[in-house]
Amino acid sequence: MTASNKVNMAKKMTVADVLKLVRKNVLDMKPYSSARDEFKGEAEIFLDANENPYPSAYNRYPDPLQWKVKEKLAPIKKVQPEQIFLGNGSDEAIDLIIRAFCEPHKNSMLITDPTYGMYAVCGEVNAVPIIKVTLTTEFDLDVDAVLRAITSDTNVIFLCSPNNPTGNLLNRDKILKVLTEFKGIIVIDEAYIDFTPSESFTQQLQYYPNLIVLQTFSKAWGLAGLRLGMAIANKEIIDVLNKIKYPYNVNIQTQEIALKALSEVNKKEKAVEEIIEQRAELTKQLLKLTITEHVYPSDGNFLLAKVKDAPAAYQYLMGRKIIVRDRSKVTLCKNCLRITVGTPQENQNLIAALKNL
Ligand code: PMP
Repeated sequence: MTASNKVNMAKKMTVADVLKLVRKNVLDMKPYSSARDEFKGEAEIFLDANENPYPSAYNRYPDPLQWKVKEKLAPIKKVQPEQIFLGNGSDEAIDLIIRAFCEPHKNSMLITDPTYGMYAVCGEVNAVPIIKVTLTTEFDLDVDAVLRAITSDTNVIFLCSPNNPTGNLLNRDKILKVLTEFKGIIVIDEAYIDFTPSESFTQQLQYYPNLIVLQTFSKAWGLAGLRLGMAIANKEIIDVLNKIKYPYNVNIQTQEIALKALSEVNKKEKAVEEIIEQRAELTKQLLKLTITEHVYPSDGNFLLAKVKDAPAAYQYLMGRKIIVRDRSKVTLCKNCLRITVGTPQENQNLIAALKNL
């Protein structure tokens, strides 16, 4: 363990400690506010926002805090509506978390290597130093290395579980160890959580005021084109994210479609079931191919497959209008392709093409 004041098993974090991590300019600033934030009740005439008064589906600005969606989503996620931030994909939340908690050129953030690329992109855009800690050869968290790498200026850790591009859940006890010992913000990105039977870390929020869980409508819910993602945390953290977001960050149509999707949970569950079934079938078929060296176990809706020559296989598939992701330049992923689980027909076409390679 380092002597850093950010690693301290004995001290339990409080909400007040978390608020001390917020950048001072963010704490001190006055957020944008509209007359509609100030008015409580049902207004009849809206002459406050310079909208076009002639009715169409979209002549009014949307609800800036998307309460109807949050009220429907909260019981599904077993949290309170005030504990949910909604944004233009979970990518928006990633960027806002870094902007809220990391002073540029000063407060570092820690990510694992390999992991989802947007953490580093958002860190770089915001001039935030990035500490990378390589996963173990089993793609699991190297907790000791993480705790050693943290400095007193490290304010945010991103853990992705199930991890992209490796597909596996990170070991729960190891995540809990980081949660217990790190006195900064810990983000657990659960974009792929619906494809595993594993319990979400949202159920740990009451014990960890410094925890933020990210989830999305882009994967299991089948709504990537809608651009709707969420951060779930204690209210105080959500208030900070809401303070710095664009006022109307989720449009009316997205809110309406999300509401409809949330009343059809069984549709999502059916899709997840089929994808999980196809994940097993695709693994089986890939393993029969001579080019396949290994298919890593996956808790997501994609597979990481080690093949004989990934760049060549990638180019070959592109020539046949089949697009997969070549991850061979990524740490620990030499000669690996990341393949999203498609429909049975798409998966069959992929296998048929690879048989002819
Ligand atoms: N987190 C992970 C791990 C992802 O893989 C992705 C998208 N591929 C995202 C977040 C971003 O999702 P969204 O569409 O909600 O922005």
